[in-house]
Formats: sequence, structure tokens, C-alpha cells
Amino acid sequence: MAKKTAFKKSELKTRREELEVERASLLGQVADLDAEADVNNWREGGFDDDPADAGSASFERETAQSLSKHAKNLLTQIDDALRRIDAGTYGICERCKEHIEKERLEVIPYARLCMDCKRRDETGR
Ligand SMILES: [Zn+2]
Repeated sequence: MAKKTAFKKSELKTRREELEVERASLLGQVADLDAEADVNNWREGGFDDDPADAGSASFERETAQSLSKHAKNLLTQIDDALRRIDAGTYGICERCKEHIEKERLEVIPYARLCMDCKRRDETGR
């Protein structure tokens, strides 16, 4: 059974640093992916009208766009977690107001729900 305990100040600081590193790396990824989507957008509508080439450009653009969307979604969650650290509500389950398992936050540092609530959420309670 996972322990539910509050975070120490030093632990919060580490968590914040981890989140900020993750955030910076995601920002870089989003910029790369958006640039890639742009390039392929241009290639797709370019003068070279080889349909196979246009098809692969379109596929690459869609892949880049969907990865970028995923990364942006993560960024939003990380921003949210950083705000919760500032507000002093980090690591507290939004539903039951209990502390979220630290093991869970190790894996998903921006988790908003504890394991029990998450499971209930997924199974539709
Ligand atoms: Zn909960």
C-alpha cells in the first residue's frame, strides 16, 4: 500500500526543477515539430507534383502535428503543476483532497488525481 504523505519543501524544490527541465525540453520539441509541420505543409503544396511525395509530406506533417499537439497538452499540464507548487496544492488529489502517492508523482509529476480516484475515473466509478 502506497504511503500518502505531504511533500517537504526540499522535495517540492526538486520536483519544480524536474518539471522545469521537462518543460524546457517540451518547448524545444514543440518548436521543432511545428517547424517540421510547416516544411511539409510547404512541400505538399509545392511545385513537385509527384503524388507519392505529396502523400508522404502530408503524412509527415500530420505526424508532426499530432506529436506537437501531444507535447502542447503535456506542457499545459506541467504549467498547471508548477502553478500548484506555487499555490501549495501540489500533490493533492483534486477529487478526494488526499495526498497523491509519491510513487505516482515520480512517474507522472503533473498528476492531478490520486491512484484511487484515477482508477475510479477510468472505470467510470
Ligand atoms: Zn483522490
